Amino acid sequence: MKKFQIAAIPGDGIGKEVVPAAIDILEAVSDLHGGLSFEFTDFPYSCEYYLEHGVMMPDDGVERLKDFDSIFLGAVGNIKLVPDHVSLWGLLIKLRREFEQVINIRPAKIIRGIKSPLVNPKDFDLIVVRENSEGEYSEVGGRIFRGEDEISIQNNIFSRKGTERAMRYAFDLASKRKKHVTSATKSNGIVHTMPFWDEVFEDVAKEYPDIQTDSQHIDALAAFFVTRPEKFDVIVGSNLFGDILTDIGAAIMGSVGIAPAANINVNGKYPSMFEPVHGSAPDIIGKGIANPIGQIWTAKMMLDHMGEEEIGTVLLDVVESVTNDGIITPDIGGKYTTQEVTAEIINRLKAKA
Ligand code: ATP
Ligand code: MG
Repeated sequence: MKKFQIAAIPGDGIGKEVVPAAIDILEAVSDLHGGLSFEFTDFPYSCEYYLEHGVMMPDDGVERLKDFDSIFLGAVGNIKLVPDHVSLWGLLIKLRREFEQVINIRPAKIIRGIKSPLVNPKDFDLIVVRENSEGEYSEVGGRIFRGEDEISIQNNIFSRKGTERAMRYAFDLASKRKKHVTSATKSNGIVHTMPFWDEVFEDVAKEYPDIQTDSQHIDALAAFFVTRPEKFDVIVGSNLFGDILTDIGAAIMGSVGIAPAANINVNGKYPSMFEPVHGSAPDIIGKGIANPIGQIWTAKMMLDHMGEEEIGTVLLDVVESVTNDGIITPDIGGKYTTQEVTAEIINRLKAKA
């Protein structure tokens, strides 16, 4: 019997509604699959925790989390209680850094029964691999005065190690999918870092002769997401480009409430962390209408990452059968509650046991 130790951090807002829902689903998954079980340990790290303790998590928080198989996170942030930079840097970004979660992956595809704004979205099924630790989101820079004028400078940092790591992850992923990797670049405008990015992409591509590649400028690539989504399988992008592309991906799927994500520790030294794309959704807290699918699909990514891909596929199939029957929350045009959608998924999982 395989037993996975999972650290659950519901966090803030609807995180506290969708994480318990997804945990119920994982319990049902383990009933379905006799050889698999989970032990969940809850951690209250959140903005409320901050108000009580003056920190988002205790000093030994990282130490307490480091031996879990995975971290399952809801959402972090409550701008009314704690400034975003305090909550994000004190928890989310801290964990990403401490646990060397240098890759962020976000799949996007059409889920049956959920309406996409695309006219013909049937071929939309891709994964964005985003470099998660450097690139444009660096702290290097500042402001200077030149005569009367004020100038701000932001340096982009691309290391060969970090860039290669992201590319290799993308190629490895593509070898299990449609064997195609697209690189998001902008070497016609960004003349130092992006030609470097292109060079590393070409070098890594040589190690994977059976994977097809192409390279697109980010502006054209973003447009192709909408006009020719069938072109894509795996896309590898820098921190900024990956961030933008994944939001377009979530929009094409029909709602940010269904989009999953994972922060991956590639060397296996520390746990990876699984959190949906959406945030704490302050406008719908407590109404019972948060869409649980983003968190549930995130749970499927966690299963995949821990080597349980078969059962992950079953789970997503069951989710799609429920959405296809119109049992969906208001954000995607339905009238059902978080609880009702969750209960229906659990019923259908049980029917498979
Ligand atoms: P944060 O600062 O925590 O990231 P945010 O305001 O940037 O929050 P979200 O929390 O993702 O972004 O919310 C954006 C919009 O999407 C809100 O209107 C919210 O209600 C809606 N939304 C987000 N997640 C869900 C969900 N799971 N179900 C239904 N609606 C959602
Ligand atoms: Mg947000």
